[in-house]
Formats: sequence, C-alpha cells, structure tokens
Amino acid sequence: MDTLISSEKEMHTRYLSGEVKQQLLLDFKKANRRLIFLDYDGTLVPYVKYPHQAKPGEKLLATLKHLSDVSNTEVVIISGRDKAILQEWLGSLDIELAAEHGAWRKEKHRDWQLSALFVNDWKPEIRSVLQQYVNRLPGAFIEEKDFSLVWHYRAADEKSCAMIKNDFLNMMRKYVDDMNIEILQGNTVIEVRTTGVNKGTAGKYWIEKRRSDFILAIGDDRTDEDLFLALPQTAYTIKVGTPPSFARYNLLDNQQPVVIELLEDLVKNEYTT
Ligand SMILES: [Mg+2]
Repeated sequence: MDTLISSEKEMHTRYLSGEVKQQLLLDFKKANRRLIFLDYDGTLVPYVKYPHQAKPGEKLLATLKHLSDVSNTEVVIISGRDKAILQEWLGSLDIELAAEHGAWRKEKHRDWQLSALFVNDWKPEIRSVLQQYVNRLPGAFIEEKDFSLVWHYRAADEKSCAMIKNDFLNMMRKYVDDMNIEILQGNTVIEVRTTGVNKGTAGKYWIEKRRSDFILAIGDDRTDEDLFLALPQTAYTIKVGTPPSFARYNLLDNQQPVVIELLEDLVKNEYTT
C-alpha cells in the first residue's frame, strides 16, 4: 500500500482504459454525493488564438446542464480566467465557479467573493517590465486580471518568442525573490501572479464544504497539477493530453470532445437501470 501511495505522487502518463472508465461510471452512480472539478480552456473548449474566442458552444452548455441536473452532483469549474468572463459564459448554469485559479469563488445563489486576502502591490512595476518584452513580440499581448498579469503569445512568431521569453524569465528571477509573486508557464501563456493563489487551495475549499464520496477532476494544464495533488488518493484525476502528470489518468489529446463524451456518459449511466 505504501508503495502505491508514493508512486501516485510521481508524475506519469497512464491512459484511462475502458476498464477504468467503466469503474469510474460505476463509482459515480453508486456515490451519494458527487463533486466534479473541471478546468475550462483546453479541457472543455479547444485553445484559440485570442482568449475571448473560447465561448462555450451549445453542446458544452447542454452537457454541463445535464450533469448539474443530476441529483447530489456539484459541478465546479476552476479556471485561470477572470470572473467577468466566467460569469458571462457560464453564469446562467446551476454550477459553481472559481476564477483566477481560485482567487475568486462564485457559489450558487451568492455573489463572487474573494477566497483570501491577497496583496497586489507588485503590479505596476512588473507591468512595465513585462510591457517591454511584449512590445518586442508582434502578436503578443498582456491580459490583466485582479491577481495576475498574463502574457499571451499564441499569435506570435514561435522562434522570436522562445528567445524573448527566456530573456524575460531570467529577468524575472530577481523579482520572484523580492516580491510576493510566482511565475507560471501555461499553454502559450506566462502568468505572473500573487503567491498562494492556486487551484489546489481552491479545490480543498470545496472538498471541505461538500463532503463527497466521489470526486472527479479534469484538467490539461500545469495549473491543474496543484488540484490533482490536493485531492484525496481516491479521487479520479484526469489529465487531458499526453504529458506526465500527477493525475491518475491521462485522456488522449483530442481535447474537448473526449471530455464532453465522458461527462455525457456519466449522465447517461446515471439514468440507466
Ligand atoms: Mg486548461
């Protein structure tokens, strides 16, 4: 048992087999209280050139509605997105939301609230440093959120990007030591954010709040690893894509259709006798 637990803390790639999927469906069905954490970009919707283009389609909205309609099932979307866009895109659903990796929480029938007190005094200085690098890279831009500055470079030239990015990361080393910030590299983004904000602490809040006997978490990005690590060993944790992960399983990388299909299967199976 000990070896099993420690090996679960290693990053690995292990695909979700048909057998495990059947077990997952079964465990979901027989559970009394279910809790499902879903990342948004790269998990429920494909990556797009500009972040505002990733609006949920009808199929996704219908799936999330079906899933949240299942009794004793709480769906939480935890995203790096800001709260305004999550509210606009997903606010009509009967689900709970966490924005900026959990800095903000939206529980049902309540307003958005800060999950802790975070200090943000680093922003003006870092913004001007970041702007200098972004100016050197046509197509790149900065997105400002309450607790982070995000450098998006999906639309920029890949070659010049690598160099400028490395310059920036080297430059940032000294700031990380002095300020209350951390640097996070995501899928064609670099995020500078206030320390202590992560999906793991966000996830723990919901686990405490809602004692569940079935937990599922699905995500594709580095930020989701914090959540995978924070969840109990018994949780089903799934990484979308092939890179090694702390998640127990990986799903092949044709992204959102696979995840939506899995969520639909949970619903279908629930109503099958
Ligand atoms: Mg993602």
